[in-house]
Amino acid sequence: MSESPVAIVTGAATGIGAACARRLAAEGFQVGIHYRSSAEKAEKLLSEIPGAFGLRADLSNAEEIDAMIKEIKSGPGRVDVLVNNAGYNENAPMLTMKLDAYDAVAGLARGTWYLTKLVLRRFMLRKGSGRIVNISSVVGSTGNPGQIPYTMVKAGLDAFTKSLAQELAGREILVNSVAPGFIETEMTGELPEEIQAGILARIPQGRMGTPEEVADVVCFLASRASYVNGCVLHVNGGLYGG
Ligand code: NAP
Repeated sequence: MSESPVAIVTGAATGIGAACARRLAAEGFQVGIHYRSSAEKAEKLLSEIPGAFGLRADLSNAEEIDAMIKEIKSGPGRVDVLVNNAGYNENAPMLTMKLDAYDAVAGLARGTWYLTKLVLRRFMLRKGSGRIVNISSVVGSTGNPGQIPYTMVKAGLDAFTKSLAQELAGREILVNSVAPGFIETEMTGELPEEIQAGILARIPQGRMGTPEEVADVVCFLASRASYVNGCVLHVNGGLYGG
């Protein structure tokens, strides 16, 4: 079993997840870089972070999650921190959104629930401690036109955080959400320029956040926080305070 505490970050090959992986490694964690399709980016990140290990799974597939848990068991053998960062969005108004698109967004939420259950059962409850950080979004609190399945999933993730923190009360396993506002990643980079300009006009600090600014808050919750539990921490430059 690994002597260093182990942090698993889902969707860690890109954006906010990669920043979390780097930040947690700098804090002394052995980091599990989970990815689905970004194999090349994951390899590059793995080569940059000493001791890190890769895990590939489509989180909308329960069998692939089972296999990933087996791999962790026979590898580092422990999970001290789980960062549920993987996220997926489809943009379309309610009336034209296809059922398949809804299923793709919701399928990942189902997988997040299942992965968390297995990590709790196989690792954290046996050890009697752990930290779970769910990456939700400001739009789970405010709503956002054209993103109804995504906003439903993110609001649900915050409810998951609150309910699970209460279920685990007294077990030294703390569960929190970090809700980013608009952060400079491929996800926001793909938005049309006029939408990006409209977003900037709404942010009191006048700029998007960086993945590192989100990772700092995640790292605090994963490593130092001991009395923050069942919370949604907003990281959004003043856009929304909760
Ligand atoms: P990103 O670079 O697109 O990262 C999303 C990650 O999720 C990808 O690495 C992807 O893995 C993974 N993923 C998607 N579907 C998956 C599936 N079915 N199974 C396994 N992994 C899957 O975007 P990001 O901006 O860094 O987003 C990270 C998190 O922050 C997401 O939960 C997002 O909703 C949230 N967030 C982002 C912003 C923002 O402004 N960027 C704002 C609020 C919240 P592969 O690439 O390997 O397929």
